[in-house]
Amino acid sequence: MTLTKTTCPYCGVGCGVLAGADGTIKGDPDHPANFGRLCSKGSALGETIDLDGRLLHPIVHGQKANWDTALDLVAQKFSDAIAEHGPDSVAFYASGQLLTEDYYVANKLMKGFIGSANIDTNSRLCMASSVAGHKRAFGTDTVPGCYEDLEEADLIVLVGSNLAWCHPVLYQRIAAAKADRPQMKIVNIDPRRTATSELCDLHLQISPDSDIALFNGLLAHLSDHRKIDVNYTEAHVNELPEAIVASRLTSLSATGLTDSELRNFFELWADTEKVVTVYSQGVNQSDCGTDKVNSILNCHLATGRIGKPGMGPFSVTGQPNAMGGREVGGLSNMLVNHLELGNPDHRAAVQEFWQSPTICTAQGLKAVELFEACASGQIKALWVMSTNPAVSLPNADGVAAAIRNVPFVVTSDIMGKTDTNDLAHVCLPATGWGEKNGTVTNSERRVSRQRAFLPTAGEAKPDWEIICNVARRMGYGSAFAFKSPADVFAEYLALDAATTHFSRDLDLSQFAGLDYETLDPAQWPRNGKRFFADGQFYHPDGKAKMIPVVQPKLTKPRFELNTGRNRDQWHTMTRTGKSPRLGSHLAEPYLEIHPQDAMAINARIGDLIRVKGEYGQSILRALITPRIAPGQLFAPMHWTRQQVGAGTVNSLTEPTTDPISGQPALKSVSVAAEVF
Ligand code: SF4
Repeated sequence: MTLTKTTCPYCGVGCGVLAGADGTIKGDPDHPANFGRLCSKGSALGETIDLDGRLLHPIVHGQKANWDTALDLVAQKFSDAIAEHGPDSVAFYASGQLLTEDYYVANKLMKGFIGSANIDTNSRLCMASSVAGHKRAFGTDTVPGCYEDLEEADLIVLVGSNLAWCHPVLYQRIAAAKADRPQMKIVNIDPRRTATSELCDLHLQISPDSDIALFNGLLAHLSDHRKIDVNYTEAHVNELPEAIVASRLTSLSATGLTDSELRNFFELWADTEKVVTVYSQGVNQSDCGTDKVNSILNCHLATGRIGKPGMGPFSVTGQPNAMGGREVGGLSNMLVNHLELGNPDHRAAVQEFWQSPTICTAQGLKAVELFEACASGQIKALWVMSTNPAVSLPNADGVAAAIRNVPFVVTSDIMGKTDTNDLAHVCLPATGWGEKNGTVTNSERRVSRQRAFLPTAGEAKPDWEIICNVARRMGYGSAFAFKSPADVFAEYLALDAATTHFSRDLDLSQFAGLDYETLDPAQWPRNGKRFFADGQFYHPDGKAKMIPVVQPKLTKPRFELNTGRNRDQWHTMTRTGKSPRLGSHLAEPYLEIHPQDAMAINARIGDLIRVKGEYGQSILRALITPRIAPGQLFAPMHWTRQQVGAGTVNSLTEPTTDPISGQPALKSVSVAAEVF
C-alpha cells in the first residue's frame, strides 16, 4: 500500500501522518512536529474516513440539486443582498478546519470584492485573545518560539492547558524530555486536576479567571527581588514601570492559593533562566483573556526570557489551521498576510495587488457579534463554512434561533446532518481530509501539506473551488480563476513578496519557487526558528510594550461551570464520533462535581443532573470527583442536540466576550444544578 505524506486535521500540534486509502495511518517519522508519534485521535483517523453520514451532493431547500443550480442560487442571493442592503448585510463564518488556500480565497472575496470585513471564524473561540495580546506587546501577531524550546526548558509552566488531552503529542514530547532530564520542573496552573497534572511537580489549583492576579504577583516578585533584566528592558521594552505599578494593585487573594504555593511558584520562575510558559483556552476563553495573555508576556519581557532557546511565552492553538487562517487574514479585524486592516497604506497595497474594485475599511463583526447581527436582522445572507455554530458557539440555542432568522443561509460541510445544516437553505458538499490538497500552519509556525489519498466523496468539491465558483458567478471572474490550490498558494506567496517593504513578521520567501506537490514542512521566518532573539519587535520604535493590566473583580456564583475537551473527541464529533474506539473513552456527556457539592444537592454517582444557566439548560451525568474544586463544575463541549436531545453544554454558556479580542468566555459560567 502506497502511503501519502499528509498532516493530521485535528489540533494545532500539526503532526505528520502517513496515510493509505485502505485506512492505514502511521505517524510520519520525518515530520519535525511529531517524529512519528500520534495520539489516540490521530491514530484513529482511518476509522473516520468512510462515507457514512457524508454530504455527497448539493441540497437546495431540502432537495437534491445539481451544482449549477446551487451555486447560481448562492451567488444570486448574496448579490441581491449586497445590492439592496450593502456589503455589510452579508457574512461568512468559517473555520480553523479550512486549509490556508480555502481561507485565502474566502478572505479575498469578502474583503476585496464584496467590500466588507464580515468574515470571522471559529478560531475566534480558540486564540483571538492571544492574537490581541501579541499585537499589543510585540506589534504583530507573532508566536516567538518553537517546540524544541519545550525540550530545552528547565521550567515549563502550563497555564489553562490540559495538554495531555488537547495537544497530546506535545505533552508526549515534554514527558520524554522530563524522563531524560528529571531535574526539569513542570508547573500546572489549572482550576481542575487533569491528566496533565500527573506529570507536574506542582499543581496550582487556581480560582477560575484569576490568572492576572497570579502573573501580576509574579511581576511584582521579580521587581522586588531584582530579577528584572535591566539591560534588556532599557534597550528593548517600553512601559515596564507602569506595568509594575499596575501589578501591585492586584490582591493575590483572588487566586485562592496559599502563601507557600505562591512563594514556591514565584521563586521557581524567578530563579530559573530557561522558562517556557505555555497557555491555551483557559487563558484565552475569558472576558479578560487579552489582559491575561499580556500578564504572561509581561513577565517574559521583564526578564528578557523570550526568543532564546528554552525560553518564551508559547500560545498553543487548538485548531489544525488557526495559524494559517491568521496568516491570510481570516478574522474580521485582520487583513491578509499579517497586514493591518486599519492602515491605509496596507489596504492600498493589498487592493492594488488584488486589482480589486474595493477594499473593506472597517473591522467586521466578530463571531458572537456576527450571530447577534443575524438575530437583529442585519445579516440577510450567511455562509457557514466547515463548522457547526448552532452547537459550538456560546448561547447555542440563541445562535440557532439567530441563524433561523437569516433570510438566506448556505453551509459547506463534509457531513449531511448537523444542527447548522438543518437550518440552511443550501448545503454544499465539501471534500474532507484525505480528499483535498492544501497547506496548514501549526502552533510553531510550521507550514505543512495536507495531501489527498482518497477518491473524492460523491460530488464534493474543495472549499477553495466552491468559493471561487460563487465569486465568478458574482462577476469577479479573473480574480478567482485559480485552477488548483497550488495556484492559490502561489498568489499568497506573491502577495507576501509584494508587501515585504512593510517589514511585518510573516516571511514566506523560502517557499517561493518550490514545488507545491513535494513541499516539505517548513517554518517561517526563513532565517531562524525563533522571533525576537535580537530584541527587535514590530512597534514603530522597534521595542516591545509591557501592558499594565489589573485583575478584574471576581464574583462567586453558586456554581461556576468550566467547559473543555475530552481526550478522544474533537469539536462537535462530526468526525471522531464515527470511531467506536474513540467513543469508548468517555461515552456520554458528564458533569464533574466535587463530593461536597454532590452531597449538598443529594446527587449520587451516575445521577442525571439538570444544570441551568441564564440562557438555557442541559442534562448531564454526575461524575463525582475531587479533581474539581468545591463550587466548580466541569462539562465537555462535544455532544450536539442531535445526539443528546436535552441541550448541549453551549446551551449554558453565555455570549460574554473579551472586550479587546471578542473571544467568548467559555470557561466560567454561573449556573445552578439539581438532580433531574
Ligand atoms: Fe493530531 Fe494533535 Fe494528536 Fe498530533 S497531537 S495526532 S495533530 S490530534
